Amino acid sequence: MSRTYVSKELRRLVVKRAENLCEYCLIQDTNGVSFQIDHIISEKHGGSTTVENLCYSCIYCNLQKGSDLGSINWETGGIVRFYNPRRDFWGEHFRLNEEAKIEPITDVGEVTVRIFDFNNNERIVERQVLMEVGRYPSSQALEIMAKKPEE
Ligand SMILES: [Zn+2]
Repeated sequence: MSRTYVSKELRRLVVKRAENLCEYCLIQDTNGVSFQIDHIISEKHGGSTTVENLCYSCIYCNLQKGSDLGSINWETGGIVRFYNPRRDFWGEHFRLNEEAKIEPITDVGEVTVRIFDFNNNERIVERQVLMEVGRYPSSQALEIMAKKPEE
């Protein structure tokens, strides 16, 4: 969620860096979904309007995230932060299965999948349709999914 004005220049930088993908669910912005500039650490919690704290997000991910920073792991009772596209590797926390479902691999992945509602039925169907026509994951998204920390 962004309340502070994000300049056109900053916006352009964020979109370009994201290669037009939602940095959370990796859907492309050319598929008829609305996109927003997200403060990774929300302004409510002191997050700045700088390129390091901004990411490109589809409206589904951004609305579900709101100003939250994480959630509770109900098995341990501990608080777990969300996936951070600036410091984490997507493929370390999530895996895309053949049914277009995004499965969590870690605790960070689990709270993110759950709170961002990645696997809402409509979103799965949307990804399945895009998958069938070869638009999800895009080649850029595949690269992000495969990227490992040592590279
Ligand atoms: Zn998304």
